Amino acid sequence: MEVNFIGPLGKVTGSCTWMQDKEKGWNFLIDCGMQQGEVTADEWNHQTWPFDPSEIKFIVLTHAHMDHSGLIPSLYDSGFNGKVYCTEETAAIADIQYRNSTHLNPELFNQKNIDSIKWCHFKKEPILGSYHPVDNDLFIQFLRTGHILGAVSVGIFWGPPRSPEQRSIVFSGDIGPQSEEHEVLPTIRHFMNPGKHNYAVMESTYGSTNRTSTEKDPGTRRDHLKSLVDRTMSNQGTLIIPAFALGRSQDILFDLHAIAAEEPDQYERIDFYYDFPLGKEIIDRTAPFWSKTESNLKKTRPLWLGKQIFKLLGLTNNDPEHLQQAIRAMLSISLHQDDPDWAGLEGGNKIAANWKPIVANNPPSPDEVASSNRPTVIITGSGNGDAGKASSWLSKLLTKDTTTVAVTGYCGSKTVCGKLLSIKSLSIPNRRMSKNIIDWSNPDRSVAVADIRASIEEIKGYSAHGDQEDLLNWALRNAIDGYLPAGDTFFLQHGDNHNRNSLRTALYKKAQELGFNIDVQLPEATTGWISLESSESTHRDADLNLIMEMLNQRPELKDMIKEEEES
Ligand SMILES: [Zn+2]
Ligand SMILES: [Zn+2]
Repeated sequence: MEVNFIGPLGKVTGSCTWMQDKEKGWNFLIDCGMQQGEVTADEWNHQTWPFDPSEIKFIVLTHAHMDHSGLIPSLYDSGFNGKVYCTEETAAIADIQYRNSTHLNPELFNQKNIDSIKWCHFKKEPILGSYHPVDNDLFIQFLRTGHILGAVSVGIFWGPPRSPEQRSIVFSGDIGPQSEEHEVLPTIRHFMNPGKHNYAVMESTYGSTNRTSTEKDPGTRRDHLKSLVDRTMSNQGTLIIPAFALGRSQDILFDLHAIAAEEPDQYERIDFYYDFPLGKEIIDRTAPFWSKTESNLKKTRPLWLGKQIFKLLGLTNNDPEHLQQAIRAMLSISLHQDDPDWAGLEGGNKIAANWKPIVANNPPSPDEVASSNRPTVIITGSGNGDAGKASSWLSKLLTKDTTTVAVTGYCGSKTVCGKLLSIKSLSIPNRRMSKNIIDWSNPDRSVAVADIRASIEEIKGYSAHGDQEDLLNWALRNAIDGYLPAGDTFFLQHGDNHNRNSLRTALYKKAQELGFNIDVQLPEATTGWISLESSESTHRDADLNLIMEMLNQRPELKDMIKEEEES
């Protein structure tokens, strides 16, 4: 087997890796994403691939974000005709995104290409963790990465199972800020230990960032959001929250429901709207997935739903009835406030007793809201304020001093929200002196910075990417419990060079502290094929000894392996 890293290599978007074993006839890709917002985006998205798409047998997709999935339909246009292996959730979300983006890149793909995608989901339970055969002696393993709904790391195993000849590589996909002990995001469950492989391919988007404990505290984040809702109540204004359709929208809606349920009387006089058709489609279509559970010998747990919801509502994680209540609470964010089917939650604490859908039906127009003094919260897209309904809300309401705009995550400096963040601390007199204009592709929409009276706020803690600590936890930290590093060799594929270098240094340092000998490589465009068959037998034997030692210490793992063999 050999691997060829095609992208993004020093960039953050456009993930694509090519793997092949000429002898076995294996020829497949891991992810095939668009570049977005990079100077090379046009060139990448319209490139002639180094492979012949008609000879690629299948694609394994880590998650639905377009920078990992966006060029799959166009591969079908270029002759690819194989299956796309991914979770059911990823396929559902990617399908909606493709169908909503054909008008953006009509030259890249069309409805016919989307219709011809052969989505393929594994049936063997548990979906996450099992070794799914895709050919003789070729297996795929999915493990949750706590990034977005459906997102997984992908383990590829080749060679006879449970023999010393079997080798493996794991692709992290994108890793969320959700370690098992500390889930930062409210809705998504923690990442799973990737296990031990010969090779681990990692993202390093925030490889140089270490967030503070305040930034990682869900309570601090919700308090900040609550203070903006309170301000909007008292100044009878409008709170505009630009959000991404996927993940961010659900997280913000969940936090707003929590705020409203904590003090139900306080928020009767404020209207909450979700004015984001693409986001609404994704939320509705993915709602059933939150009910999915996974079971092992002892417990049934949610497959995707995070722990915060249980804690907040005073529910326990392992009571089947409580599990149903937590799932219903999550589903309520896709309902409207007057939904006749909503019957309240049973059990739990006072917040659970007060929990109810809060989003009002039929959002008013920006003009109507601008001329009314009814306190209003609008969640809208696009997340960076550049397009969609967000552009009409912002262009209409930025000039009002009762408006607050909450930016909820990283936005490039050229985007509308990025520009708003840059004037966040600028006083009104200083804004008045600015000659800058914020404009949108619609020529009727533009606002002079000199006229902006709105307060701009940045709420931390909604990023779906882990920081350096999270990345190290995914890669190495389980070693403390007697586990092993995710790979003997790490390839840092995804992330700009500053972040790749920082993460490499941090990985070496941490591995040394833990007594592991690892190699970390930063593949470049010129690297080409890397053989994954190089002999590391001494290394390997030492690893096997460690595994045997670990199994002897933890007999329950032996039982799990036996179960796996029997099923
Ligand atoms: Zn992603
Ligand atoms: Zn990514």
